[in-house]
Formats: sequence, structure tokens, C-alpha cells
Amino acid sequence: MIQTIRGFRDILPQDTALWQYIEKTASEILENFGFQEIRIPIMEKTELFARSIGESTDIVEKEMYTFADRKGDSITLRPEATASVVRSYVQHKMHSQDPVQKLYTIGPMFRRERPQKGRYRQFYQINAEVFGISAPHIDAQLILILNELLKRLGLSGLKAHINSLGCPECRPHFQTTLTAFLEDKKDHLCEICIKRMERNPLRTLDCKVPSCREALEDAPSTLDHLCTGCLDHFNTVKRLLDVQNVEYAVDKTLVRGLDYYSRTAFEILTDALGAQSAVAGGGRYDALVSELHGPEIPAIGFAVGFDRLAEIVAQAGPKDAPPTLSPEVFILPLGEDALEHGYLWACELAAAGIRTEMDFSGRSLKSLMKRADRLNASHVLIIGQREMEENSLVLRNMKTREQHPISMDNPVGRIVSIVQKKLNQ
Ligand code: AMP
Repeated sequence: MIQTIRGFRDILPQDTALWQYIEKTASEILENFGFQEIRIPIMEKTELFARSIGESTDIVEKEMYTFADRKGDSITLRPEATASVVRSYVQHKMHSQDPVQKLYTIGPMFRRERPQKGRYRQFYQINAEVFGISAPHIDAQLILILNELLKRLGLSGLKAHINSLGCPECRPHFQTTLTAFLEDKKDHLCEICIKRMERNPLRTLDCKVPSCREALEDAPSTLDHLCTGCLDHFNTVKRLLDVQNVEYAVDKTLVRGLDYYSRTAFEILTDALGAQSAVAGGGRYDALVSELHGPEIPAIGFAVGFDRLAEIVAQAGPKDAPPTLSPEVFILPLGEDALEHGYLWACELAAAGIRTEMDFSGRSLKSLMKRADRLNASHVLIIGQREMEENSLVLRNMKTREQHPISMDNPVGRIVSIVQKKLNQ
């Protein structure tokens, strides 16, 4: 038996109703807030990610699925969506129409991480990106949108963690202070943090190794080194969240794993899956558009981890249960003649918008009725030879046991009107 690749999985039919429900809820909210959908390729040139995410990040160093294509060009399965959305914004000169663009996309990402519960090598994200707005209001709004989405999906006990990572004006000074502090603590740091000290000292702040956590407890915080512009920006974000009653905690260890962030960084944490984990994260990346050869245009975005979200929603039970896809009409033909009629009617019913199923097996009525029950069909239409000859077909409502006579003259029209009336009640 050929099985899926390690860390990859199928989303099975019993789960896709929930996935579609989450997608629909997310699209609705994002569109209400002015976002439009964009669909980007699953593969990009490797240099796009190396350049934007950063050469010395975990993702680029060890997690990307990178291949040489048949001509030897290096291509990569996207590990995240922001870089591609920025590439698209720049490539299509969207800024020349209007620098302000709000884009969202939903789809799979690929990272070769160690598979574990809730962590996959192909996982899904809902991404939202806003270009051209430097006002802190949009930072607060993105956190509010996440809150709204998660609330609408029936989640509770969520907390937004926020931090400011400074900007090119104040960050270098902070990095010098941090590096001096790290030098002092060098003996207590893990090997990876020692490497990070040179390449990306900020990343030491969210190291999960206990000895590093202890050593870094009193580490300097970006928040104490923000320039006036960054401080004002951060204070306004906090004030707006207060005004809008969005719960948050300032978390100086929140630095995010990617190089491109500046100013506001945020994550939404949940303990619904046991250990505390982030269901969404994001932040500002004001320099990325110009780094990818576009004009100097500020930007900010977030990514929601779809797999985790689906798991939590399934646990919590969504407020508006996703529709079940059981048949509205199940046709049970008895005999050759009935099979042909049933087949034609089933096609017409489905084309008319009625979810229709029929059985082709030629088995006994008893076993067909068992299957109708198993499929949770709301109506069954039994087509037997005698019923056809006597023009006495009956559509049976399986819940109310009501029986509706169906004429051979216009069976489809009559069935549609009965089923639709029932649905509208
Ligand atoms: P990131 O792009 O790393 O900030 O991730 C954003 C969100 O995507 C995280 O909060 C997770 O919920 C989710 N996520 C990241 N990596 C994985 C993975 N390997 N498997 C499942 N979900 C993931």
C-alpha cells in the first residue's frame, strides 16, 4: 500500500465541511473589512524566500522543500505566504493603482519540521496582508479581526500577545545592548543561541530551552529601546485595543521567527490543545516591499494556522454547525426499468439544486433502506415496477414519515417543490 509522505495528510470528507465552514467565515469577515482574495503559486524561486524570510532563520536554513528543476533553477515550495503576496504586489505594480491594498489568501504551506501533534509538513494558513497604511490603527484592526474570526468560530480563552520590535532607526542600538548582555551569559546559552548571537540576536529572546529562558529572564527588552516614533505607534495600538475591549498582554519575548518584521508583532495564543500554542501570528514588515525591489511602502499581515484552528473548532463545537452533506433525496430503483428512470431523474434533480443520491446495486429494498438510513437521507423515492405502472410513486420524508404521491408526468418538478418547501420551513 502506498501511503502519504511523513508529515503530510489527507483532509478526509468527514472533515471538509468544517474546513469549508472556517474558510467561508474567514472570507466573509475579511471581505467585510475590505480585503480581496489573491491566489498565489505554490512554488516560487528560492531566492524570494531566502531574501525575505532571512538566510539565518530556521525556515530558510533547514525547513524549506527546495529542488533544482529540470533546468537547474532552484525552486521552493512556499513555506509561508507573505513573501509571495509581496512579490505579487510588486510584480503587478499594484501600488501604481492604489498603494493601499488589502489581500487575503488561504492555502497550503510546506515546512520540513519535525512532525508532531498539530504540526505538519504540509499545513494550511489563512493569510491577510495590508499594504500602504502606516497608521497604528491597522495594526489594532488586524488583531481585532483575528479576535472576531476566532470568536465567531466559537473559540474562547484566547489571548493576544503583542510586542514592538522597533525599526531600522532604533533596532541596531537595541541589538548592540542585547549582544553585550548575551556575551555575559554566553556560558548558559544553548548552541543554537550562541550562533544566533552573531547572526540574529533577537531570536535568542524566544528560545524555548529552559537554561536559555533562565539566563535571559532579565534580558533587555526592545520596548525599553524604542525610538519616539515606534513608542508612539505601540502606545496607540495598545490604546485602541483597550478602547475596543480586545484582551492582550505585552510580551517582550515575542520576536517571531522571521527577519522581516518591524514594529508591531503579535500572536494569538490558546491552551485549547493542551500546551499553550499560537493559533495565529503576524506583524508589521515595513521594509519588505522595498527589499523586494518595490517602492517604500509599509505593510503588515497575519497568518492563522488552519490545521490548529480546525482542531480547536471541532473540539469546541462551532456555533453555527456546518451543513451536513447528507442527501436530500435518495432514489431506490427496483429493477432495470426503474434504474433508467431513477438515473435520469437523479441527474435532473441534482442539476435543479437538490442534493441527490441513488443506488445502482440492484439490491433488495431492505438493504437499500438500510443504506438510506446510513446516509441520513431526508427523503427517499422508491421506484418499483408496480408503482410506475400504477402511477403511484411515493416520496417519503424519513423524519416525519409523511408520504407524498409523485406523478410520473412531472416527477422532478414535484419533488423539487416538496423538498424545497420542507427546507424553507
Ligand atoms: P508562522 O508563519 O510560523 O508565524 O505561523 C503562523 C501559524 O501557522 C502558527 O501560529 C501555527 O498555528 C501555524 N503553523 C506554523 N507551522 C505549522 C506547522 N508545521 N503545522 C501546523 N501549523 C503550523
